[in-house]
Amino acid sequence: MPYRTVKIQLFPKPEQEKRMLLTLHACRATYNDLNEYCRDFTKRYDEWRENMGVEEGEDASLYETDTNPLPRFPSEFELTAKAGEFREINLWRRDAYGTAVREVGCRIYKAYQRWFDSLVDDSSAGLPRFRSEGKYDSFTYTAYEQYRLDTQGLFRGKKPRMFLGGIGWVRASDNGIIRRYPVSCMKQAVVSRKKMGKSNKWYITIFCECLEMPDNRTWYMDAETPDPVGLDLGARRVATLTDGMVVENHRTMRKNEKKLARIQRKISKTEKGSEERRKYLGHLRHLLKRIEDSKNDLLQKATRSIAQDRTKIFVEDLSVRDLLDLQDNKESRKLFRDASAGTFMRLLRYKGEETGSEIVPVNPAYTSRICTKCGKLNDPFSEETFRCRFCGFTKHRDDNACVNVLRRGMGFDILGTSSIAGITEAEAEVRKNVTGV
Ligand SMILES: [Zn+2]
Repeated sequence: MPYRTVKIQLFPKPEQEKRMLLTLHACRATYNDLNEYCRDFTKRYDEWRENMGVEEGEDASLYETDTNPLPRFPSEFELTAKAGEFREINLWRRDAYGTAVREVGCRIYKAYQRWFDSLVDDSSAGLPRFRSEGKYDSFTYTAYEQYRLDTQGLFRGKKPRMFLGGIGWVRASDNGIIRRYPVSCMKQAVVSRKKMGKSNKWYITIFCECLEMPDNRTWYMDAETPDPVGLDLGARRVATLTDGMVVENHRTMRKNEKKLARIQRKISKTEKGSEERRKYLGHLRHLLKRIEDSKNDLLQKATRSIAQDRTKIFVEDLSVRDLLDLQDNKESRKLFRDASAGTFMRLLRYKGEETGSEIVPVNPAYTSRICTKCGKLNDPFSEETFRCRFCGFTKHRDDNACVNVLRRGMGFDILGTSSIAGITEAEAEVRKNVTGV
């Protein structure tokens, strides 16, 4: 069973940090109290041996009687309960997160076990020490329920934040790895402090125990996942993503068409080489440049925001030429050219390299025509809405297509039910046509 740890930085607000420090102090105080309690046991144990006259190296339990039992070292459970008792007695510790405080019982138990072992095998673990301020830097959440990831936020492409028991929602650094792990494999987590002079840096280390290595497939099946995504390039919408993001066609060209036409009309009325003609040509260049600039600006912004928050993006593997051929009518061809799919893809690849998100090309055949509900292949259509001829399923054509892109990228058959085995008719036809197999 593979284990992994994922460490991410936390950025608590001042009042959250106050609560984290309080929990830390409460844990330290509890640690010292429990240490005292355990030392007391070792003292009683030594006294008992002395009283009974047990010699060095002899098994003390042989001297044990029902009325005079050998003092037993408290169990992990007893120490945890004891930690809770200390918390009840010391009122200020009640404001600290209870589970983290009780977990200190496990820590001290383990520390003493190491010491006992060292007595036998001469290793270097010493008697657990009392901890002074600054020598105790972490507390533990024992299960996922006590802390959790904002998976819904991640799903919508937001920056990660975590809910920490007793602390609240804390902003966290973005770590691509965290997005690849299903929350079901997240177990214990340790919040730790690193002193940086007067201020502190905070981290959370999450221990993951996965039944299988999480590949993107299990992640995907975990419904809440943001990653990976499928991206469909279109005409009316420049791009549509499976996680709900849409890049609308800015239609700069269309908006400026009238202006453009007016200038061109004027140019055609002037004589070649005339002063007037040069003036209008200047206007034309100026307008075209403006269109180009605003288009570029929009595409830059859109591709950056897509690449920033996603680790793997499946896109149709098409040259723009092929795409244009796929467009069914003159109107949508025009729109498509306007959407600058070529520039979009170039920028997306470039941004992907910058942010480390993977852009994976996927065979594009029929992605817009296959029904994501029943998996059957429909006839070519030019409407905005996809309407399945077989099962009546309707969806925006790009929303339907991007799901197909994702599924094919994941190696699922087009219904998303399984990989390889049990491919649908439509998928089989696609494969035959594309690969010849
Ligand atoms: Zn259908």
